[in-house]
Amino acid sequence: MERKNAWLDYTEQDEKELEQTARAYRLFLDAGKTERECVEELVRQAEAAGYVSLEQKKASGEKIKTGDKIYAVGMKKIMALFHIGQEPLENGMNILGAHIDSPRLDVKQNPLYEDTDLAYLDTHYYGGVKKYQWVALPLAIHGVAVKKDGTVVKVAVGEEEADPVVYITDLLIHLAGKQMQKKAAEVIEGENLDILIGSRPLKDLDDDKKKEAVKANVLNILKEKYDIEEEDFLSAELEIVPAGKARDCGLDRSMVAGYGQDDRVCAYTSFLAMMEMENPVKTSCCLLTDKEEIGSVGATGMQSRFFENTVAELMEGMGDYSDLALRRALSRSCMLSSDVSAGYDPAYAECFEKKNSAYLGRGIVLNKYTGSRGKSGSNDANAEYVARVRKVFDDHNVAFQTAELGKVDVGGGGTIAYIAALYGMEVIDSGVAVLSMHSPWEVTSKADIYEAKKAYKAFLLDA
Ligand code: MN
Ligand code: MN
Repeated sequence: MERKNAWLDYTEQDEKELEQTARAYRLFLDAGKTERECVEELVRQAEAAGYVSLEQKKASGEKIKTGDKIYAVGMKKIMALFHIGQEPLENGMNILGAHIDSPRLDVKQNPLYEDTDLAYLDTHYYGGVKKYQWVALPLAIHGVAVKKDGTVVKVAVGEEEADPVVYITDLLIHLAGKQMQKKAAEVIEGENLDILIGSRPLKDLDDDKKKEAVKANVLNILKEKYDIEEEDFLSAELEIVPAGKARDCGLDRSMVAGYGQDDRVCAYTSFLAMMEMENPVKTSCCLLTDKEEIGSVGATGMQSRFFENTVAELMEGMGDYSDLALRRALSRSCMLSSDVSAGYDPAYAECFEKKNSAYLGRGIVLNKYTGSRGKSGSNDANAEYVARVRKVFDDHNVAFQTAELGKVDVGGGGTIAYIAALYGMEVIDSGVAVLSMHSPWEVTSKADIYEAKKAYKAFLLDA
């Protein structure tokens, strides 16, 4: 039951579309390095494609009807898009779900300090990271600082050619004898992931201030450039991410290397599929969540009521709301919970079971279940539903494969699937295979990106 490499069947037209999709995707990765930036960029693209916000629609007093394209955003970090179908919402929706948060280093609330004429920002990592991967590489700062008067100051440093970057040091190899003996989990300690941001002291300070002259200089720069004070770090969300743009990877340009592909590769291809829908029969929906990497918690994670509340608002706007109708709309829906899969890596073959692994270039991956230690925490899609989904993919010539995340008892992971399934809807995990998942530069196959978009569109049309 080996699945074929998708590249082998591509026509010239396929290759053209594949390159277009990959290029748009790379630009999206560059525009969206944080969940907030992703939402902002996708709202921009959705509005350009005729989507209006739910609030605006409601304020207009118009009834929501078939053909309407509507989006809703929660706290600037979670969003849902709907293309209203010909059937009543009560019959259920076809939903594409993915997440737009990615592993990174978050700047602490009281982060700034100086030590031996060097100024640093202290961080706390977010999501699962191999800490040793985050040292000795160019880093950028993305995020917001919110002042007491409510002004939101956007920060993005490290991406433009003329920008400086920031940096985390590692110990030179010459002195690392002891460090090199440590376990990989301890080689770089979490508290040592401090961002080097300055080394130049301010001149002519009073004696009592001389001890922190580098910090004082950095504060002056922050004041000048962003009009923020040290206290404003208290109400800031600053994320440290790898600096630089996503790139074509491989001499044959068959892959994309870039930060945050878990899970923006599924988020963006879902979004693209959504944008291509015309006159859907069932309502099409694309749900992009935050906080997946830390358990889908909080008001912007999948565990929140954001999605349910948004669908309720939508139904009220259509004149169709009742508690029962809402429950039916949710339980009769079906969903692709789209998250990345572990791409088979020959260098680490011992962690994979070859028959049930996801391979780069063999198309979108269906994971009937995820979880670890005996499927714990998994959704485990129904066989009847898996059959339906594979028929849809086959009918639309989508290259797909099935996989588990690694060998039994080697590890595991979870997604948003089991949370959506609580409504009683059919859900299956699907997504794109990634190499070096959760590292600063992850790698995906352009063929898989292309097949994911095709798969998502097929699902919205026919699931
Ligand atoms: Mn993920
Ligand atoms: Mn992840």
